[in-house]
Amino acid sequence: MHRLIAAIAASIAFAASSWAAENVTLIHAGQLLAFPGESPGRNQTIVVEDGRITDVRNGFVEAASIDGGATVIDLRDKFVLPGLMDMHVHLQFELGPDNDRDSLKMSDQLMQMRSVYYAMNTLKAGFTTVRDVGSSPQEMYAMRDAINNGWIDGPRIIAAGGVGITGGHADVSGVSPELMEIYTSQNICDGPYDCRRAARNAIKYGADLIKITSTGGVMTDRATGTGQQMEMDELREVVQAAARMGRKVASHAHHEDGIVAALEAGVASIEHGSYTGPRAIKLFNETGAYLVPTLLAGKTVATLAVEADFMSDVVKMKAIRVGNDMAGNFEKAHKAGVNIAFGTDSGISPHGTNAEEAALMVEAGMSEMDVIVAATINAADLIDMSDSLGTIEGGKFADIIAVDRSPLENIEELLDVDFVMKGGTVYKQ
Ligand SMILES: [Zn+2]
Repeated sequence: MHRLIAAIAASIAFAASSWAAENVTLIHAGQLLAFPGESPGRNQTIVVEDGRITDVRNGFVEAASIDGGATVIDLRDKFVLPGLMDMHVHLQFELGPDNDRDSLKMSDQLMQMRSVYYAMNTLKAGFTTVRDVGSSPQEMYAMRDAINNGWIDGPRIIAAGGVGITGGHADVSGVSPELMEIYTSQNICDGPYDCRRAARNAIKYGADLIKITSTGGVMTDRATGTGQQMEMDELREVVQAAARMGRKVASHAHHEDGIVAALEAGVASIEHGSYTGPRAIKLFNETGAYLVPTLLAGKTVATLAVEADFMSDVVKMKAIRVGNDMAGNFEKAHKAGVNIAFGTDSGISPHGTNAEEAALMVEAGMSEMDVIVAATINAADLIDMSDSLGTIEGGKFADIIAVDRSPLENIEELLDVDFVMKGGTVYKQ
């Protein structure tokens, strides 16, 4: 009997080792930024097995030296770095003159198909992980799960469930009352207990995190400003209800009163943070919360407000004011040592142009290295995935990209990503 068990064990072991050998990929990297924040290395080999990085070795390891052989990917003339991560996208949407017509004419199913296309544009641009902070939640959870199951291709998605107050930035605007009634989310709440319910409800249906809007927003088609909207008791209840179930909270916020209130309530990140001033900076540094700057959104809406003609007057006014103030305040926050995680608000800008944010961050005084840290290590920390994402080292997911020349010398290299691997699968080469 024990001989039979031994034979089975041996055949399993043989199957396992031959399986592993078939799945070894060696990436020969001419320059390798394995740990953003540290100097890149030269002529190294990344060993990838079953979707994960198992080792990084000096020199170019030959396929013949691997038991059972290996696939070699030649990136000897490239600059290799971890997959980029965008902490603020809206994969179901792309701002433009046809938005109103589309939402009346397109089925939810067709919109979902279109978001698969937007997700693929994002992945091909080198963004292997995104945090979607505002889409029809059930559809985004489905897309997240379908990608994780390998049924469709796309970046890893961390999907938010939105909680907002009646008439606030997260609530529906700019359509007839009849349509507003249809489109109003179950997670629109008023008062602390109702907002507690809404946060729990979002988690019940699949939210990885809660997205709130402590201030008004630019794209809300109502003249309700961009100052604080949620009350302190509502903010605290959402953060506490989320924390009890192991979820973080991200808050959209423009004016400083709303940034300060959200930080006092304990949110993990402030989105946009357009008017981050001294009071907010102090709280950011005390709490360690991240600022997700979305400079690209500010630039895009300020430009569209002048050049295009589909925004209402109230939206245009907010867009020009906030859009033009963002970069200067971001510069002050960064200089004061605030933690920054990369985020674009893509969907406001076209999906796949995410790296334009990196150029804007450099323009606003951030070093190229700090920008890459924000888009890798810091982003991984914000979503609590530092153990599997953000660097190129043994044990992490094989999320790896490559560009022609060093983005540490010219950040615009990130606009033209030549190679994309996610979880060991090559999506662009
Ligand atoms: Zn957004």
